[in-house]
Amino acid sequence: MKQLYIAGNWKMHKTVAESVALAKDLVAKLGASGQKVMIAPAFTALASVAAVVKGTKIRLGAQNMGPEEQGAHTGEVSVLMLKDLGVSTVILGHSERRHSYKEDDGLINKKVLLALKHGIEPILCVGETLEEREAGRLESVIGTQVREGLKGVDAAVLAKLVIAYEPVWAIGTGKTATPQDADAVHAYIRKVLAGLYGEGPAKSMCIQYGGSVKADNAKELMGMANIDGALVGGASLKAETFVPIVEF
Ligand code: PEP
Repeated sequence: MKQLYIAGNWKMHKTVAESVALAKDLVAKLGASGQKVMIAPAFTALASVAAVVKGTKIRLGAQNMGPEEQGAHTGEVSVLMLKDLGVSTVILGHSERRHSYKEDDGLINKKVLLALKHGIEPILCVGETLEEREAGRLESVIGTQVREGLKGVDAAVLAKLVIAYEPVWAIGTGKTATPQDADAVHAYIRKVLAGLYGEGPAKSMCIQYGGSVKADNAKELMGMANIDGALVGGASLKAETFVPIVEF
């Protein structure tokens, strides 16, 4: 069976103490898991959670980062600061960043390139709104987000990057794309990647699905040919709901 990559996005939840407690619980329960696992606490909890996951199989992720290495950018957190804390992955272009904070493909691309430059694995999120899907624009929206997000990314480093397909209408809503629908979009993303990098790299690219993934739909989604893992929001906030997804 293929190894899956299951990532938890804790969003703007949990104090430092709560984050540490959950991280400890996950280390205890997932220490022997064969899957690749990442957790992304809030910036404020990164240092404390880093100490908990250090030396374990759980990767430490950040939920965002600034587009510059350093400088006069009030309120931003830089790639160098993340690296300093032991962060190995960063979620970029999450739909909440794209829609609530108006991040566009150019900005997201800048962050992708910066993360790769510093050896941090970017998870590039792409996804269409319900309006775009219903207007028949799914492929053009996803295609643009993938092409623009990867602009300037060399084929040699493509394997260091992950794509997460997250239909905006499925995030935090309890609605999930059917496994067949999600798989078809993942296959389309591979087609776009094949056009950019060739069939081989497109086939081996890790593409996660995100959008109301829960223990009871994980098995079917993860069983699809083009789905290589999950980016989990709500269900990653408790060990009782996250562990069964990793170990479906
Ligand atoms: C997410 O935030 O990336 C996400 C998929 O959230 P949820 O699992 O809650 O839909």
